[in-house]
Amino acid sequence: MTSEPQFLEAPEQVLSTLNPDGTRRWLHPRLAKGRWWRRRRLVAWFLIALFNLLPWIRIGGKPAILLDVANRDFAFFGASFRPTETPLLALFLLAVFLGIFYLTALVGRAWCGWGCPQTVYLEFLYRPLERLIEGKSYSSGRRQAPLWRKVVRLGVFTVVSAHLAHTFLAYFVGGPTVFRWSLGSPAEHPVGFALVWVVTGLMLIDFAWFREQLCILACPYGRLQSVLLDRNSLIIGYDAARGERRGKMGERKGGTGGFGDCVDCGLCVAACPTGIDIRDGLQMECVACAECIDACDSVMARTGRAPGLIRYASQESLAGGRTRWLRPRTVAYPLVLGLILALFLGTLLGRASAMVQIRRSTGAAFELLPDGRVRNLATFRIDNRTDQERRYTISLPAGVEGMIPVNPVVVAAGDSGIAVVHLYLPREAFSAGKATIPITIRDGVDFEQVVEYPALGPL
Ligand code: SF4
Ligand code: SF4
Repeated sequence: MTSEPQFLEAPEQVLSTLNPDGTRRWLHPRLAKGRWWRRRRLVAWFLIALFNLLPWIRIGGKPAILLDVANRDFAFFGASFRPTETPLLALFLLAVFLGIFYLTALVGRAWCGWGCPQTVYLEFLYRPLERLIEGKSYSSGRRQAPLWRKVVRLGVFTVVSAHLAHTFLAYFVGGPTVFRWSLGSPAEHPVGFALVWVVTGLMLIDFAWFREQLCILACPYGRLQSVLLDRNSLIIGYDAARGERRGKMGERKGGTGGFGDCVDCGLCVAACPTGIDIRDGLQMECVACAECIDACDSVMARTGRAPGLIRYASQESLAGGRTRWLRPRTVAYPLVLGLILALFLGTLLGRASAMVQIRRSTGAAFELLPDGRVRNLATFRIDNRTDQERRYTISLPAGVEGMIPVNPVVVAAGDSGIAVVHLYLPREAFSAGKATIPITIRDGVDFEQVVEYPALGPL
């Protein structure tokens, strides 16, 4: 006796991308080319160009955005940060989070629909390529594309993903470095090479297969929506008062009347890249892409009705009230944000033009010389935060004997240099195995710092 697999069917739809039996419901959103789509396309093209150019644009000797985790070196539009600059990094991150909170309180998930790289690349690069390659099989969604078209699509997606992976890596090491690596042998930079192919694979999986699931299942921002939004935030919503009772054009001919403007054509659902029905109200899956607005406006135009049955509106205004733009959170967020930005800028502009850090040397902490003196090897890292080359001179206090192999140390704009000092100290200089030696580093322009070097010696 053979038994059929038993499925416990959910009483209602659990997820827009799941079939009742738990399999993936593949979406083939129908493109609605309306005014919002045209605007989003312009923004998307601009952003794609910007995402590609940012690692190549140099400001103050560094890429406009650099996240060099390996060398613990970060740059944002001319301002360099070290991970040790905790207050600056903390203020920066706080400002980013508050900015997101404020934006969401005002205009809902506008970021998701207009600016997020996932949406931008999926909707304005991968999907258009897919529509082009798969043609009608894509648009219908009911027919499998011929194998050769699938192979071509995969090949094109791989090339695009490889390009994106190179761009992504450029944010971590800089555009020119990635370009140089891509011309050289993989053996010269195996880690970078492996990273590019791992990222290419991940991009391919995301844009060819995972797609809207990233927004629905993986992205934490969508899940925070319920706390970040309120009834006065701008969302994309269906005007139920105007649209209901919905009824198809055929039903209306019966003449029972009492119908609203929604002709139940289903185009808003067919256009939705996350597969939801906006007429069911605000849902976590909605990425505010405005595709349903364009789809519905086209139907309204064809049926001689006014546009805007689905539109940008607050829940309050859709319920017949008035949107309140001034609310506790829309006042508090910018005030706190302004304060944090002022603190951030004050700290940034008040920083010295260089930063000196003591680096721990490897090997023995000190060396006892035959003549009784104690040798310490002091190493400093000097970060030049200016956009000009600087020469840093190292000086020892009077009476302290030392040897400085390279002095001054020349550091290029926005770069780092290492200063090495051999200290020769008498045993008497140490108390409990320690002695503090003030070492001065200056650039002769505007930087001078006395670093208290903790020399070590015998107890
Ligand atoms: S409901 Fe409308 S705005 Fe929301 S994701 Fe779907 S198409 Fe985009
Ligand atoms: S596109 Fe407009 S008219 Fe058609 S089902 Fe959606 S809301 Fe109703």
